[in-house]
Amino acid sequence: MTTRSETGGLGDGSESGPGDLTYEYLAEQGMDLRRFLQQALNAEGTDGLRAIAAALDHTRISTSSYERVECIAALEELKSSACAFQAKTTCVYDDEVAERRTAKGERILNSNWGVGPEIAFARHQPPRSGAQYLDFCHVLTDDLVFSYDALHRGVITEAEAIIVVKETRGLTREQRGEIDIRLFSEGHQCFGLGGKKLAAMIREWALAYGSEKEIDLEARAIKERYISIFPIDRHRMKITGILPTEYGVLIAQVLESLVSSAKAQGDDRSRQHLAADSLLERLTGLDSPTAIPIQLGLVMTDRTLFQGHSEPALLQGYGIISAQKARRLISGSEESPNELGIWLRRLYTAPGTGDLIAMDSTQRLFGGGLKKFINIRDQFCRSPFCDSPIRHLDHVVQAARGGPTSAENSGGSCVFCNQTKECPGWKEETIPGPRHTKRVTTFSGHTYDSTALPLPGTNQYNVHPTPPHNRQ
Ligand SMILES: [Zn+2]
Repeated sequence: MTTRSETGGLGDGSESGPGDLTYEYLAEQGMDLRRFLQQALNAEGTDGLRAIAAALDHTRISTSSYERVECIAALEELKSSACAFQAKTTCVYDDEVAERRTAKGERILNSNWGVGPEIAFARHQPPRSGAQYLDFCHVLTDDLVFSYDALHRGVITEAEAIIVVKETRGLTREQRGEIDIRLFSEGHQCFGLGGKKLAAMIREWALAYGSEKEIDLEARAIKERYISIFPIDRHRMKITGILPTEYGVLIAQVLESLVSSAKAQGDDRSRQHLAADSLLERLTGLDSPTAIPIQLGLVMTDRTLFQGHSEPALLQGYGIISAQKARRLISGSEESPNELGIWLRRLYTAPGTGDLIAMDSTQRLFGGGLKKFINIRDQFCRSPFCDSPIRHLDHVVQAARGGPTSAENSGGSCVFCNQTKECPGWKEETIPGPRHTKRVTTFSGHTYDSTALPLPGTNQYNVHPTPPHNRQ
């Protein structure tokens, strides 16, 4: 660390050499650690923050049990403070981009278009979550001053701040401010209750305002309904979704009555199993999942299929499954022969890297073969940190800018990311990589790479480990 005159910790300065600039020496001179760190961070900026992160790596863990727990609590406070500072910095950046574009007279619908995904990339979050985070930052720093201050001081966590923002969503700024004061008023032990209780308490206060926005939110609940099905591990899928309250209650009641009547007739399955089976039966009209007449796409090497090799396979719409499971899906078992409509597709991967070998098309629109190829290669939206399902087959370099319709210049994309790339100053290209690699350069000049997932046949052992390192 370089010496800086404003630290004021060098005593008379005449006998002190650089060797004296230890923490012990400065502490002896009466250095105020808080003030010193603050000045260092102001002088060093982002490098200072990274220096703190790097210093933690070499910090000794206390020998006292009490101190160890204190340390865990202090780190939690540090995370909260970092979240508050991150939120404030986000707001300043967002405002700066909007002001700059307005001053330049850039005619775009939203003056802060693209800031959400840009911030999301920096936070290693899916790009479409950026807008929600921006909203959180502005509401927290502008409307909820007490909550912001509490987060900044490490009194509440980011999760608690998110609850406050979320549950006051339908209110005006003034009403939000009132709830914010109430949360920190004496007599209300709001924090430390647990997230659900905190949310219920704020919801009760918010509903008492009977606001117009609350009615809008109800209408929005109907508009925002969805169901999604996604894998949680190698053997299970999770069904989740959002429904307006009354629909959700209705489904719960129907399931409850189906379970209860089955139980009354002596069914020995557990209530949870009965609920899951009833949902499946009602939805599919079938009483057994083995008889579903829907095609599944399975990609595997010939070694796995014919030679009993253990290389995993790819189940489209799900991800990687074990070789045994892939073979069982095809051949079935003795008790349950294969009635699933499995189709097999022969694919060629480059030796070692597992990159799908390219196919080219002269068409502007992605035709049958190329479309299937990209869907299998990419599996999800190819933007960094985005794992939304593919909705568009996208030219990485836009066709309007001369990008060819080829496997190399293509990428699966979700609707959101496909729109974001049209943002002024946003650039996407493909670069050489072990497998198909897309590079995104955001308008602040940061770059993020996204490499296609390894496919069956990739030599998983032909890799050179590179330990994670701190950013420079
Ligand atoms: Zn996406």
